[in-house]
Amino acid sequence: MSAKVKTRIAPSPTGNFHLGTARTALFNYLFAHKNGGEFICRIEDTDKARSTKEFEANILSSLTTLGLTLDGPITHQSERTEIYKQKLEELIKSGKAYLSQETEGESKEVIRLKNPGSKITFTDLIHDEVTFDTTELGDIVIAKSVTEPLFHLAVVIDDAEMGITHVIRGEDHISNTPRQILIQEALGYPRPQYAHIPLILAPDRSKLSKRQGATAVSDYLAMGYLPSALINFLALLGWSPQAGKEGTEQEVFTLAELVERFSLEAIQKSGAIFNLDKLNWLNREHLRRLSTEEQVNYVARALPDVDKNILSKITPIILDKANNLEEIKKLKEARELDYFFTAPSVSKELLKTPEHLPKVIELLEKISESDWNMENIKNAVWDYATEQGRGNVLWPMRVALSGREKSPDPFTLAAVLGKEETMNRISLYYV
Ligand code: GLU
Repeated sequence: MSAKVKTRIAPSPTGNFHLGTARTALFNYLFAHKNGGEFICRIEDTDKARSTKEFEANILSSLTTLGLTLDGPITHQSERTEIYKQKLEELIKSGKAYLSQETEGESKEVIRLKNPGSKITFTDLIHDEVTFDTTELGDIVIAKSVTEPLFHLAVVIDDAEMGITHVIRGEDHISNTPRQILIQEALGYPRPQYAHIPLILAPDRSKLSKRQGATAVSDYLAMGYLPSALINFLALLGWSPQAGKEGTEQEVFTLAELVERFSLEAIQKSGAIFNLDKLNWLNREHLRRLSTEEQVNYVARALPDVDKNILSKITPIILDKANNLEEIKKLKEARELDYFFTAPSVSKELLKTPEHLPKVIELLEKISESDWNMENIKNAVWDYATEQGRGNVLWPMRVALSGREKSPDPFTLAAVLGKEETMNRISLYYV
């Protein structure tokens, strides 16, 4: 009987939660859930100089916000020195590791693993057979002392002691795997399954770095990308619904749907290109799927000073123009939303044909407050506009309301502004 699937994300708290780590976490989560297993988080904080509690908090809150729930307590390598010490002493006692006097530079002692000098072959679930000749690695340093284990030793002990069955991690770790297998074999641990996932690349195929823009999940959350959209986006970086199966054209997924569809076999071998347009598109799709109330609350995060009543009317218009909170803020800064809040002042030239406005007022006046909606507004002026040339009537009506060359259509604007405000604005240009 095979052991229950258990996966892990093992972030080092030396920076904010990176998109790449988030995607690794997601794939581990998906694989565990797909197979009825467990997903845990281990904080790899052995590098005391670079690890901070702030970075750790950022990592954990990002995981929570993304909805990647954990199936066990969070562990810290910094609190596990005892087990590493015990295992190191065991290795030394059995002659598989030894204290070695380093002569280069400052003279000091380290612990080295005796390398049997063999070829290591492992089956990678994405890259198939991978073979490394470990002879050239020599006797690898596994600890500075029995109380100061190095990265590879700690990872191997933890994965084994925590019962990790599948190590799913970034391809940048693939050359670490033979080293870790050597340590594993010396300790008599079983070998987990490995899956090294392709890196996320910038559009120019270079390594994704801060030079090209934000790399932390928390930055994207702050810009107003929905957690569900980020999850969807990350899933499609290197994975796609399996070819040949029904529903392969689907691109918008919830986390639950991803669990259902996920398989490691459908992960590509080559690097995955980060595409901001795709993220924007997905964010829009996920915004569209929110309830009306959630949408209004979302827009309110960018426009905290706007009256909720007005906000609920303009939310659909705003979400039609913007992909995220940043863009809504930019619309506001560019004064693109001003006409929703204050009457514009409009030049005669821009109005072009204001002589039709008295008739527009007369026609709109007939609609009662309670019947004031887009359809009735359109019906009220439509015949007259058709008769006079639509542009001649609808242009000055729209411009009197918005003051802009470009804006939503006059019926939408009038409905949002309400009868009183609409009448006031058009009357200003009554000639
Ligand atoms: N701590 C490593 C990192 O943050 C991950 C190690 C592993 O997944 O084995 O890159």
